[in-house]
Amino acid sequence: MIGVRFSSFAIAGLLSLSLATPSLAAKSKAKSKTSKKSSAKAKPSPTPAAKPSPSPTPNQDWQVIKVGPRDYLTVDNIAKFYGLIGNVDSTGKIVVLNNGRNQLQVTLDSREAVVNGVRNWLCFPVIAKDDKFLVSRIDLAKTIEPQLRPQMLPQKGKVLTIVLDPGHGGFDKGARNNLGTEKDFALDVARKLRPMLQKKGFKVVLTRENDVFIPLHMRARIANATKDSIFVSLHFNGASNRDATGFEIFSLTPRGAPSTDDNALALHFVNMQAGSAVDAQSFALSATVFHSMLGHLPEVDRGIKRARFAVLRHTKIPAILVEGGFLTETDNSKRVADPAWREKFAEALSVGIENYRNLVEKKQRPMLVAEYRARAAGEINVVDLAAPPSRLEETPPPIVPVTNPAPTPTPALDPATAAPPDPNREP
Ligand SMILES: [Zn+2]
Repeated sequence: MIGVRFSSFAIAGLLSLSLATPSLAAKSKAKSKTSKKSSAKAKPSPTPAAKPSPSPTPNQDWQVIKVGPRDYLTVDNIAKFYGLIGNVDSTGKIVVLNNGRNQLQVTLDSREAVVNGVRNWLCFPVIAKDDKFLVSRIDLAKTIEPQLRPQMLPQKGKVLTIVLDPGHGGFDKGARNNLGTEKDFALDVARKLRPMLQKKGFKVVLTRENDVFIPLHMRARIANATKDSIFVSLHFNGASNRDATGFEIFSLTPRGAPSTDDNALALHFVNMQAGSAVDAQSFALSATVFHSMLGHLPEVDRGIKRARFAVLRHTKIPAILVEGGFLTETDNSKRVADPAWREKFAEALSVGIENYRNLVEKKQRPMLVAEYRARAAGEINVVDLAAPPSRLEETPPPIVPVTNPAPTPTPALDPATAAPPDPNREP
């Protein structure tokens, strides 16, 4: 049943590709679709916030479906809008959409998704209704759209200063093992990263220069005292599950949504505090830096996550929290303890941050994990990637495998149990 339906949007996807932009493509075909559906109750746009967004034309591009308290869009609506061609796998649970440039994979009854080659955690599970897969409107607006059309990121000034926040310090050692402590590794990465960023023309501020404890609200205050800046909190992980390994990254949970480690079906988060005025920027920063981390270093991809950690909640500038690996897993901790590895890690962060500046200031699409890896393997001409966005839109994409390029198969993770939250990041 689902197969038949998807073959029809496969055709729609192909047609879309022949038009200039997904937006135009969607608009031109929206009428027939809209008239077929009885969704006159469609909401203005998939963006939960009332303010204008880079999102699609009201009513024409999107048919919003209400299920319980939440708004959803069908996966074929999403495919059509972005000009993606789709398939359901043989289990009937996984949908893979692709147009050679963007890739989106979602799984029925799961929050886990893959966007352009990296693991993502949606706010709400993908559900099915009337044989259609549905993605929540908040996920479309806050997770999918910023990655499939990063160039639509609202313009918010320049990126001049980077506030680096080495986690923990002093009596608060963070995660540890017999090779060292999180507080020391994080400070070392910040010290290595500072001159790399300065070389790229950034000003750099550290929330701590030494082995001292700085209260979380102070760290946010230091960040908020800077202008045209972003905040990057540096951490390493620890977990009771000794097999947990790899990279993960956090930005602030959107308003009205659960954090990744919350149960998505619990309702307590509804009363939680608002998101942030810069949450789109924070999410873009998170994705951009994460692609560079995984593109430079072959660690396990644990995904782009959301949390309401104090340093993310209280910062008023775009803010992320980077988890650079587990000090509780044997191999991972050996790598982190190696200064040469930390140098590479810092380099990956600096490139990701530079890509974010290029996105904000030049509307240049950030490099993706597969592009970093292809470049490292000598398969991509770097000049092509630096082309202005207009050229990128017109020309075929660089040779980028859009299958998940993770070096090792990444097992399904339970975000709630795989790694208990780091107390230092808590309110
Ligand atoms: Zn930490």
